Amino acid sequence: MGTIKSAIQGVTERIRQAAITAGRDPESISLLAVSKTFPAENVREAWQAGQLAFGENYVQEGVDKIAELADLPLHWHFIGPLQSNKTRPVAENFDWVHSIERLKIAERLSAQRPAHLPPLQVCIQVNVSGEVSKSGCEFAGVPALAAAIRQLPRLQLRGLMCIPEPTEDLQQLRGQFAALRQCLQQLNQSGLQLDTLSMGMSADMEAAIAEGATMVRVGTAIFGARSYARH
Ligand SMILES: *Cc1c(COP(=O)(O)O)cnc(C)c1O
Repeated sequence: MGTIKSAIQGVTERIRQAAITAGRDPESISLLAVSKTFPAENVREAWQAGQLAFGENYVQEGVDKIAELADLPLHWHFIGPLQSNKTRPVAENFDWVHSIERLKIAERLSAQRPAHLPPLQVCIQVNVSGEVSKSGCEFAGVPALAAAIRQLPRLQLRGLMCIPEPTEDLQQLRGQFAALRQCLQQLNQSGLQLDTLSMGMSADMEAAIAEGATMVRVGTAIFGARSYARH
């Protein structure tokens, strides 16, 4: 005990420093603790340290953890790839989805969102690396996808998310984050009111914050290295 708490304090300090360096208010950046592959007891420990928002990548693992921790007032974000045959449990159990890249998935989530829950908060995942093999909507397709999602009654579009191509080249890394920020600015200039830039992970949160991230998704720096044996 104590290690997750001190890790969260360390990450919070990194966020604060990066914000100050960028001339931003540290309060404008929220921390999503990515708990994929880690057991519910680790999430409980993070909650005891004051963390409320958690991210999961795998539908069944996430749903199981949400059920196990139903006694806690947590916010659950789905951040992994989502296939159309898995949308229902996500619509029924999560508060946010960051990884919308096509309209069909958004339509299913809206149709399947239970009436007693608030609208599902969603982000469009954008392919910022330009590589064809990478997931995410192409920049050119974002305005139309955003407009279509806005018509869906049970979703609330909050912003954009990206996973950049990892690179040692800081300029190139920042360029990918900057492109996502500019895409959000263009949507807002066209009349949308989006407030979320979900970008930055354990290794690159400083660069993401310098480019305007409002939510960083941090796993390894809080919970430690992952073993993928279960997946
Ligand atoms: C795993 C994951 C993270 C966290 O990555 P770390 O490098 O462990 O901080 C963030 N976002 C997404 C989409 C992920 O899949």
